[in-house]
Amino acid sequence: MRELLILLFAFIFAGQVFAYDLVLPRDKKMTVGTNYALFVGKAKNTEIITINDEKIHTASNGAFAHSVKLKEGENRIVVKSNFNTQVYRFYKTKPVQAVQHTFTAFEPKNYIVKKDNTPLRSTPVDYGMNRISHLFKDTVLIIDGAQGDFYRVKLSKNKSAWIMKSAVAEFDCDTYKPEFVTMNTESFKNASVHTIEFTGKLPYTTDENDKEIIFKVYNPFVSDNSVYTVNIKKPEKYSYKTELCGGKYSIKLNYLPQDLTVLIDAGHGGSEKGAVGCLGDKEKDINLKIASELKDILSQSGVKVVMTRECDGNVSLEDRVKIARENCANIFVSIHLNSIPDIKMDIHKNRGTSIYYYNPNSKELANIMQDSVTSALGTRKDGVRTASFAVLRPTDYVGVLVETAYMTNPLDSVMYKSENFARNAAQGIADGIMKFASK
Ligand SMILES: [Zn+2]
Repeated sequence: MRELLILLFAFIFAGQVFAYDLVLPRDKKMTVGTNYALFVGKAKNTEIITINDEKIHTASNGAFAHSVKLKEGENRIVVKSNFNTQVYRFYKTKPVQAVQHTFTAFEPKNYIVKKDNTPLRSTPVDYGMNRISHLFKDTVLIIDGAQGDFYRVKLSKNKSAWIMKSAVAEFDCDTYKPEFVTMNTESFKNASVHTIEFTGKLPYTTDENDKEIIFKVYNPFVSDNSVYTVNIKKPEKYSYKTELCGGKYSIKLNYLPQDLTVLIDAGHGGSEKGAVGCLGDKEKDINLKIASELKDILSQSGVKVVMTRECDGNVSLEDRVKIARENCANIFVSIHLNSIPDIKMDIHKNRGTSIYYYNPNSKELANIMQDSVTSALGTRKDGVRTASFAVLRPTDYVGVLVETAYMTNPLDSVMYKSENFARNAAQGIADGIMKFASK
């Protein structure tokens, strides 16, 4: 009996010490709206894991990741190893039908924009790549319809746009009719400044083709056809800034200088951990390691470097942009590691390096960066994509967001846990910046 008890205790003890660790899911009982349940964690060396009797592949460091398709209602998922059995219960809720809003037209009315940097959009939804302008405070608009949370803005005979209802207030002035004053272009060695002035604040849009930035100001208060266009020739590498003072727009186009200032942005920080890897590592820590290495490499090459954070603290997205602007950064590099979107069935397909950009002036750096980072790390090219991230939206700099690898991919985790990962990732990013700068 005594021997049996010792054996039993030894067995329980072994179970405690050798059992696998799960990073995801966070709870044993969950109500979710997702199509898949993700199981991400680390097995001990001798452990063989099965999830609902399917054997799970573990990487050399024990990392594993697996997704289970959920049916509506109750799902029972059993995670088993030679040491440990755990039962997880996922309750999948019915998918919520998206509300279809209908459009209502009404008599045109004047409205005024409440805040600076208010997005004007091509469609009545507040996500995606649909921003056509960022309007300034006190811009007056003609609004002639509504759909859901949006108003329709009349810009000209053929052009309408959308603005959040909450971003504007009624403007009680039926006689508002700004007049055109003057238009001017000044050229300097490394810049050009374009101004267009009216007697009141009017909406604008910017667009780009291969050779030009097309800046348009709309004056629907005068007529349907009252559109003023400034075509701004652009060099290969540039940034620009739009300002409105009184009724006067000025667009300053800067040619990227030889002596660059690079803003290094270590993603997340403080209470914002970012993604969590199979082994429980936090994205914010690895981002900071890469950022510090990048700072060293670039400083040694004589590049001026500014950091958004140098320790583990919270920095808001607005502050990250502010730091870049205050230091007149020419290039903004945001450093991250990716995680698996839960809608993907084959969890192992999501691996490698992906690069994001928003404005056309950043596309070339994004492409160069994908080549330089993947060749420095030996990672797979996961793609160059556009995304509406707050730190990438300003046109004041060339901006890219680098997702060096996937935190939740077991094979990537072997790599990002290796000793030289941060240094190699930083070298890849630095190579990309240098190559872009010297082109
Ligand atoms: Zn991140």
